[in-house]
Amino acid sequence: MAVNGPRPIIIGNWKMNGTSESLGEIRLMTGMLDGVELGCDVVVCPPATLIRQVHEMLSESKIGTGGQDCHPEPNGAFTGDISAEMLRDAGARYVILGHSERRHYHDESDALVRRKAEAAHRAGLVAIICVGETELERGAGDTLDVVSRQLAGSVPKGSGAENTIIAYEPVWAIGSGVTPTSDEIGEVHRAVRHWLAERLGDEAARAMRILYGGSVKSTNAADIFAIPDVDGSLVGQASLKAKDFLGIIGQFAPC
Ligand code: PEP
Repeated sequence: MAVNGPRPIIIGNWKMNGTSESLGEIRLMTGMLDGVELGCDVVVCPPATLIRQVHEMLSESKIGTGGQDCHPEPNGAFTGDISAEMLRDAGARYVILGHSERRHYHDESDALVRRKAEAAHRAGLVAIICVGETELERGAGDTLDVVSRQLAGSVPKGSGAENTIIAYEPVWAIGSGVTPTSDEIGEVHRAVRHWLAERLGDEAARAMRILYGGSVKSTNAADIFAIPDVDGSLVGQASLKAKDFLGIIGQFAPC
């Protein structure tokens, strides 16, 4: 974590997991955190069907709620899609955009991710913009080029620490149980911070949170959070169970 850097944030991405039965995990989480002073911000991004319920269950806590995607338009004939305004109306304050699973399975381009991020800003949501290289790209030595190209294409004008979070998620580390070395993570986070400074200025770059995501769990979180320029994490699998998620959140002492 950057010394004197922004307050860390841990964001749970439930992906396409969770029915009303899973709300028990939210209940467990609020129970375990009752009266506890958190050392980081916390957000849960359940599937869209659960956003309102999760938001209501978390309303007494400091934990935020987010969506996992949004359409660029505010409304219209886009069957099956959900707008940023609808997420906001359901209680979301954050939205994950450009996750590698969206880029891969839904062919999302950087330009589309940027339009979605603009929609998020329009609706008053914090856009969590994901970038990261594939195994092939890392093997070819292209990691930094890929990440800066994704940033250039996906981060809209008007982005700042108050409305945008960057999540570096190497595709090959997501759900694989494999993580990059600390040096590899540090190199990319440093490059992201540098890119942000050039585009948004030093102050905005220092304040913006840059998260690492990919097979983070309670057993490796402390080492990852000790890396300079890592301001928290986007967590998939380990966010589904309250006990696992709290094991990660607990790595940050209240400050
Ligand atoms: C993710 O999908 O954003 C993610 C980080 O997943 P996992 O933690 O399961 O690797």
